Amino acid sequence: MRVRFSARSDVGLRRDVNQDSYGAKEMPAATLLIVCDGMGGHAAGEVASSLAVETIIEVFAEADSPDSALRAAFTAANAAIYDQGHGSMGTTGVAALFAGSGMHVANVGDSRAYLVREGQITQISRDHSFVSDQVAAGLMTSEEARTSHVRNIITRALGYQPEVQIDIFSAPLRPGDTVLLSSDGMHGLIEDGEIAEIASMLPPDEAAQRLVDTANARGGPDNITVVIAQVDEVDPDGAQAVAAADAPSAPPPSEAAPAQAAAPERPLSRLGMILAGLTLLVLLGAAAFLLVPPPTVIAPTASSATAPPQPTTTATSATPTAPASATPTPGTPGS
Ligand code: CA
Repeated sequence: MRVRFSARSDVGLRRDVNQDSYGAKEMPAATLLIVCDGMGGHAAGEVASSLAVETIIEVFAEADSPDSALRAAFTAANAAIYDQGHGSMGTTGVAALFAGSGMHVANVGDSRAYLVREGQITQISRDHSFVSDQVAAGLMTSEEARTSHVRNIITRALGYQPEVQIDIFSAPLRPGDTVLLSSDGMHGLIEDGEIAEIASMLPPDEAAQRLVDTANARGGPDNITVVIAQVDEVDPDGAQAVAAADAPSAPPPSEAAPAQAAAPERPLSRLGMILAGLTLLVLLGAAAFLLVPPPTVIAPTASSATAPPQPTTTATSATPTAPASATPTPGTPGS
């Protein structure tokens, strides 16, 4: 696997401090890219995000299987931040590992990993945010989510609690693919279609700068971080698997208008998260109540006749495509 990448991080126009961090680890047969968006009073967010990046880079072990190496690195980052802040600071974390013939993405929070292929964009990670849960439950459109005043409430963060649940995704890659990692200071202001266009048109370096400039041109309400990787070559051993698997099925493209309002500081209070959870439960309850079919006339016994439709929530790892072929062969020397 050979990738070229470029990164930009900008404080934006309204904040005093850049609480985003990014990093890269280049290994003999793999490349790991990371974006973290810190939160917490004063400079704590900056500390949390940089500590996360450092720890992930330090702990990630190429010799392990990609998924367990990512999990171990994120778990260590969570512990390192919690040890220092005891819940007073936290950070999102998204990391993409390029190895073999595909990528593996670890995610906690609402920073994102996107794949752009032939001009089409797919969000690979799933946001851990209040509005994302509402969209998944059909209670909010993605357009409403993008402009919601509670869009900054996240439901998972690194370092906020002693334990953290980490989502892992995987997707096969082809030469010519572009992968983007970003903090919400970028993707909260720029539509998916625009991101795809910029990433497809320009080399990584210029595309990253263009995305930062565009977010700033729209007010730069938040810190802006973008890491872009261009896939030049995948391992030959993985070529067949890559060819066999089709592009990840794209979710409906979000046509939401960019949010203009200044992003409020991201809330990181236990109360906020609990309230968000409770509100969602109440809304889900109301929806389930409305969906329950009227009782049938001929009820044989006391048992309820039909179960209401179950809203399925996928808790952990999901694979956005057909099962990822990619069991990369780390030892294979790239030609
Ligand atoms: Ca942010």
